[in-house]
Amino acid sequence: MLELTVEQISMGQSAVDKSAALQLMAEHLVSDGLVADGYLAGLQAREAQGSTFLGQGIAIPHGTPETRDQVFTTGVRLLQFPEGVDWGDGHKVYLAIGIAARSDEHLRLLQLLTRALGETDLAEALRRASSAEALLKLLQGAPQELALDAQMIGLGVAAEDFDELVWRAARLLHRADCVSAGFAGVLQQVEPLPLGEGLWWLHSQQAVRQPGLAFVTPQQPLRYRDQPLHGVFCLASLGEAHQALLERLCTLLIEGRGQELCRATNSRAVLEVLGGEVPADWPCARIGLANAHGLHARPAKELAQLAKAFDGEIRVRVVDSGQAAVSAKSLSKLLSLGARRGQVLEIIAEPNVAADALPALLAAIEAGLGEDVEALAVVAEAAPEMLPEPELQAPSPGAVIHGVAAAPGIASGPAHIQVLREFDYPLRGESLPIERQRLQQALAAVNAEIGALIQRSQAKAIGEIFITHQEMLADPELSDEVDQRLRQGESAPAAWMAVIDSAARQQEALHDALLAERAADLRDIGRRVLAQLCGEADIPAPEQPYVLVMEEVGPSDVARLDPARVAGILTARGGATAHSAIVARALGIPAVVGAGDAVLLIASGTALLLDGQRGRLHVAPPADELQRALAERDRREQRLQLARAHRLEPALTRDGHAIEVFANIGDSKGMEAVVDHGAEGVGLLRTELIFMAHQQAPDEALQEAEYRRVLDGLGGRPLVVRTLDVGGDKPLPYWPIAKEENPFLGVRGIRLTLQRPQVMETQLRALLRAAGDRPLRIMFPMVGQLEEWQQARAMVERLREEISVSDLQLGIMIEVPSAALLAPVLAREVDFFSIGTNDLTQYTLAIDRGHPSLSAQADGLHPAVLQLIDMTVRAAHAHGKWVGVCGELAADPQAVAVLLGLGVDELSVAARSIAEVKALVRELNYEHARQLAQQALLQGSASAVRALVEND
Ligand code: PEP
Ligand code: MG
Repeated sequence: MLELTVEQISMGQSAVDKSAALQLMAEHLVSDGLVADGYLAGLQAREAQGSTFLGQGIAIPHGTPETRDQVFTTGVRLLQFPEGVDWGDGHKVYLAIGIAARSDEHLRLLQLLTRALGETDLAEALRRASSAEALLKLLQGAPQELALDAQMIGLGVAAEDFDELVWRAARLLHRADCVSAGFAGVLQQVEPLPLGEGLWWLHSQQAVRQPGLAFVTPQQPLRYRDQPLHGVFCLASLGEAHQALLERLCTLLIEGRGQELCRATNSRAVLEVLGGEVPADWPCARIGLANAHGLHARPAKELAQLAKAFDGEIRVRVVDSGQAAVSAKSLSKLLSLGARRGQVLEIIAEPNVAADALPALLAAIEAGLGEDVEALAVVAEAAPEMLPEPELQAPSPGAVIHGVAAAPGIASGPAHIQVLREFDYPLRGESLPIERQRLQQALAAVNAEIGALIQRSQAKAIGEIFITHQEMLADPELSDEVDQRLRQGESAPAAWMAVIDSAARQQEALHDALLAERAADLRDIGRRVLAQLCGEADIPAPEQPYVLVMEEVGPSDVARLDPARVAGILTARGGATAHSAIVARALGIPAVVGAGDAVLLIASGTALLLDGQRGRLHVAPPADELQRALAERDRREQRLQLARAHRLEPALTRDGHAIEVFANIGDSKGMEAVVDHGAEGVGLLRTELIFMAHQQAPDEALQEAEYRRVLDGLGGRPLVVRTLDVGGDKPLPYWPIAKEENPFLGVRGIRLTLQRPQVMETQLRALLRAAGDRPLRIMFPMVGQLEEWQQARAMVERLREEISVSDLQLGIMIEVPSAALLAPVLAREVDFFSIGTNDLTQYTLAIDRGHPSLSAQADGLHPAVLQLIDMTVRAAHAHGKWVGVCGELAADPQAVAVLLGLGVDELSVAARSIAEVKALVRELNYEHARQLAQQALLQGSASAVRALVEND
């Protein structure tokens, strides 16, 4: 990202004219390795098209699109010309900022700069600046305005206590980019100040990016420190920006008008009282920005000039940016929006000029503001890259398609395709009554559809989801907002989607698991209504059991499926360790994932035959093939019934070798069922799921109760617990963690808990206290270094002196290749290893396990992963230690023989898979499996290993 630093600045330069200044700039850019020699021609050509003078003595020379390929590295160089350079049109330049940018990264720079370009007269100060530091200060140090608009107000927030309310306020500030993620944590250290009348005040300068004030009120009356709690102000303070606001607030409180804030039912009322940015009730219109490089200097200048022709105020904002609208007449303000191609601009005009100004501005923006533009497609859903390639062809009848075996079983039935479709609709409506009527009809139709779904759904939980959908459709707040947009001339689909999208984004931004689910629900009903409005209602699901075909299924999508109606799941994307696949296995629905985008082109109703064990799909299979498969399904069903009948017996191979089969669990409930599925113990308790189920970090007593419940349910069988595995891609909503570029390679698992030892210590205490004399095995996730294990072990040993346990083993998960490679060293110290093949595969093959198109290749039967498992087992056995496998591979029917043959001692799988895994073991011969495993190690790919097993 472009930032300004002193190293980029050359002070005291001189140039006789603009051409010499450009020459000098090109020399700097070339000698610093940013651009090739020919870039000078680009700088000159750009000036010939139009001056790059920005105002305040600053010019921003840069190349043209044609000279972009001469840029090696994006960057900037600043040259100070104390004597000034004539830049044409009577403009004097004291600072030239040369930009080398391959794409539109420079918009960010303009955004930074234009803060300085606002009010004060900067030119003279730039000329006089005597050091690079001083110059930089001038550019960055211009006073920033306090951000306070409707987005910063949260009224009637569902919060249970003061801390939660403060956390909500911090989220609002974060969303508006006023603070970084750690701000919520910072506020916890701050002493709250009571203002009287139930109002509280908190502020901090730490982790602040730009000044902003958030105000939140609770849904229900709360108390804090024995005083009423009616509202909280959280100030992200920077400089003096908040002074005026503070004075207004004091006056208000002195006048005893604090209640006006607490009782406010809409953000407008609060903003009026506080003097914040009140959203103008003026006509507005929206348009997508199509300029390839966004609203950069040239098109912005055009827009500003056009706006100036109207004798009334005109403002512009970027929809969903969280930024306030700026004057369309100010070039620097327009640049400060940093608007990019594809973003939607909202133009708001004073009523007396709106009728002329809005169409004129829209037309000019649509025409490209002086640039040639490639029109934007109106896309309501699904990013273009998520859609099938145009040249893809639907698989022909009889075709066999290979995907990833995600959940075993054979399913047949008509295809029911559910894809997020593109909808084209006009942004402007015909007339208010017509658009209102369209919306009403669409809402009524969807309401009736949902009503039918409620009638049909047998599972209570699924029925409840649809009842919530109906409530959302009837939400008066949503309809008020939509109506307001209709009154401003928007079309029904545009208004509806804008409101749904913004409401869903708001929910998502709060990073609360429940609210995120609500956002998914909102988008769901949003799409349904949009489909109605566009005359393309969803194709109803077939009456008989069907094969659901989707791009990708989210875990919540799977969870709400009715297993009685969905015979099988087929996805274009995703892999076997994607969470949707894990949920499909838990529900016992056969699934093939990652079968490629062509499957989305299969016509709804086409007969499909899906083999979730082999990862195969047969499109419109011939009758004999279908017959054979259904016979196999019946045989499998019989095998499973037999397996279920023997589920409580141990898993012994034909030649008498035993392997333990344990269960993976994520909560403490339902232990009776887990044991009844045949679990000989729990091989992986994912404790982060217990943490995620709580609104805040469960304290020691709460955790102890959860762990005790599991141990009680196990009745003396061993419990293998994994300490908290969060961070990176799985943050806890109440535990702020700095955003990372690459969270899978960031602070997660043991790295995180070692940084917060008190969290780990509390968890360990709770575990030890819950265990008593019962068999407890504790393992640490994501260990990659010997010291991490040693530090964790030292902590347990210290606690053990305080809390006695009689049957404790300590081990690590092997999920990182470095741990497998270090196994000979680690095996001396640990009591056991448990191989997490989901992560081990991801890190060995360098494939993100959740990657939409690549994760299908993240196959744990890849010989490279098998080599690491082999090393781990050999190292452990050499020291008399045991090894389990708790990743999804352990339940893969094709992998069981290989893992057994590699000498793995325990397999930990979803409770539902236990009976089948045990039955598979019973069919094997250990000596033969060992030979098979040795051959598997010599293969060149996962598919070769699968073929080997299949033909065995
Ligand atoms: C694994 O990585 O294999 C594992 C069991 O851990 P999780 O899937 O919870 O990351
Ligand atoms: Mg893992």
